[in-house]
Amino acid sequence: MNIILLGPPGAGKGTQAKILEDRRGMKQLSTGDMLRAAIAEGSDLGKRAKAVMDRGELVSDDVVVGIIAQRLDQPDVARGFILDGFPRNTAQAEALDKMLRKKDLQLDRVIEIKVEDEALIDRIAGRYSCASCGAAYHDQFASPRKPGICDNCSATQFVRRPDDNPAVVRDRLKVYNSQTAPLIDYYGKTGALRTVNGMADIGEVTRQIETKLNGA
Ligand code: AMP
Repeated sequence: MNIILLGPPGAGKGTQAKILEDRRGMKQLSTGDMLRAAIAEGSDLGKRAKAVMDRGELVSDDVVVGIIAQRLDQPDVARGFILDGFPRNTAQAEALDKMLRKKDLQLDRVIEIKVEDEALIDRIAGRYSCASCGAAYHDQFASPRKPGICDNCSATQFVRRPDDNPAVVRDRLKVYNSQTAPLIDYYGKTGALRTVNGMADIGEVTRQIETKLNGA
């Protein structure tokens, strides 16, 4: 099954994508993660993307469409993929349609994770992750069991994304509302769109998504 998770930054797309990967063997394709990996490698692409990402703006369509086109040719997406953070505007959605037709792939569902704007700033501004294994934590909602020690790998170094500070988060939300939210209509017209309540707890959101993927 091939799906898109659609929703503002902080809606829980990455969290839900990881759960679906474990449960269903689908592959999470996060353009944000791929761009951050390019920055960490110090590649030319990473260098060009970093300044744009630090401002909370969108990297150029050509770059992200190219990354996804290459990624969809890898054998590990054969059991299905979860697009997380792509497409982000109508031009990317149109490029995706074209790409899927060419590769003879279909899009089965677009799951919108709906969250109120006010909740997003707190959710994003408090998040951090283990520098070693990437396990996700939150200042208010999900601290490690032993303070300062990763539950998953016992590392003691943690990192925060530079674009997770409140000023940049506000700009990312503006970009979402102006450029990405129109995709709700775009996919509404195709019949693929389903909406879940992203204000519920993580397990309940997963249950709602599973119901939508199983046919509802
Ligand atoms: P994310 O991890 O999805 O929140 O993405 C972090 C940042 O990466 C975004 O604010 C953009 O600067 C960039 N980015 C990720 N995905 C895309 C995309 N599909 N199109 C353009 N820029 C993107």
